[in-house]
Amino acid sequence: MPRRDIMAEPYKIKSVETIRMTTPEYRQRAIAEAGYNTFLLKSEDVYIDLLTDSGTNAMSDMQWSALMHGDEAYAGARSFFRLEKAVQEIYGYKHMVPTHQGRGAENLLSTILIRPGHYVPQNMYFTTTRAHQERNGGTFVDVIIDEAHDSQAEHPFKGNVDLKKLEETINRVGPQNIPYVNVALTVNMAGGQPVSMQNLRDVRKICDKYGLRLMYDATRAVENAFFIQEREEGYAGKPIREIFKEMMSYSDGCTMSGKKDLLVNIGGFLAMNDDDIFAQAKELVVVFEGMPSYGGLAGRDMEAMAQGCYEMVDDHYIAHRIYQVRYLGEQLIKNDVPIVRPVGGHAVFLDARRFLPHIDQDQFPSQALAAALYEDSGVRSMERGIVSAGRNKRGENNHPKLELVRLTIPRRVYTDRHMDVVADSVIDLYQKRNSLAGLKMVYEPPTLRFFTARFERLP
Ligand SMILES: *Cc1c(COP(=O)(O)O)cnc(C)c1O
Repeated sequence: MPRRDIMAEPYKIKSVETIRMTTPEYRQRAIAEAGYNTFLLKSEDVYIDLLTDSGTNAMSDMQWSALMHGDEAYAGARSFFRLEKAVQEIYGYKHMVPTHQGRGAENLLSTILIRPGHYVPQNMYFTTTRAHQERNGGTFVDVIIDEAHDSQAEHPFKGNVDLKKLEETINRVGPQNIPYVNVALTVNMAGGQPVSMQNLRDVRKICDKYGLRLMYDATRAVENAFFIQEREEGYAGKPIREIFKEMMSYSDGCTMSGKKDLLVNIGGFLAMNDDDIFAQAKELVVVFEGMPSYGGLAGRDMEAMAQGCYEMVDDHYIAHRIYQVRYLGEQLIKNDVPIVRPVGGHAVFLDARRFLPHIDQDQFPSQALAAALYEDSGVRSMERGIVSAGRNKRGENNHPKLELVRLTIPRRVYTDRHMDVVADSVIDLYQKRNSLAGLKMVYEPPTLRFFTARFERLP
């Protein structure tokens, strides 16, 4: 496996999509018309789109040709069996139910296992996961290590479960009130931070001690496997595919968003070893998604996802994926741009509090920075700060500790040269940061305001 200074993309390009280059004047108009909200920009007006890594993957020639093999039968489709086999081989679980995307799997799992009064310990929350837990009467309990909440704490496995917090939670609420322990690999909301193999083993041990199930949110588990190979004793040189399977072996099942690791644009699944949960999932999926043999997907989607299962554990693919994210992050670090450390698996997060200390949090520094970045270079990023945090029950703005701009890297879509453009623009902005102004919110929707809120620039 290449471990040299220069690691170029481990693929060549067979089909291209032209992206539009615009002028600064054009972009100034476009972002003003979008109310300084990058979610409201037209994708056509974006040069490099780092809004999300979800469903934005580039499929391979093998995946595109697999689409043609899609069996679109209503029941018993060949494509279902191909996906089932891929999940059994790569993940090692006994059963799999396809869903339209990750939250479809979360809905099934939460509906089957969570009852009012239940608690779900997890290494930091994720938006849709927690929403499904709460819809079914459950309460999320954060059991991630403290370092994960500190943007500057260097830790090789910042996504680890705090074993003491986990055991205290079990003793406090009682194991009978815990339908399962949930572990996310990697932890999205902590910046794509990994969990160590030792930590997974230890969590398994605790679950066994109290007779608890252990379910994963395996959305970015391949990225997690790479960090184990790179950082954990005993795993250097071990194939990603083996490390991945060992990680999965400590769990009883997982929810999965195919839009991330699986290198497709839509899809997901719920997997498990338990025959009883499988039987219930098959009944429930009919109500929400479709027959258990397609779960809201076309046969061709399952084909592409099955092929993605094998491609994602390719050692060269995943090494470049992680290096590309890091390549961007390290250019910023070298130029003293404040970012969340260490660089995680899917994104680089700018620390807008330290980038723009002269802009008060109530003047939306992350939102202002994301808008300025678009104006400067046509790069689209996403606010993860006071706008995303919304209001509390009394209607006041929540003031989150972290005020971030997320630069999320789609898989196999951009070259390292595109990362240079992004780095150059961010560094330029950092050098002239004192000239950047805050924003005023002029339209606020009742919920999830970050999607549609509109702003004006303060003088
Ligand atoms: C994206 C995501 C989900 C939800 O998956 P969707 O496919 O978007 O429904 C769940 N957990 C994590 C960590 C995610 O990043």
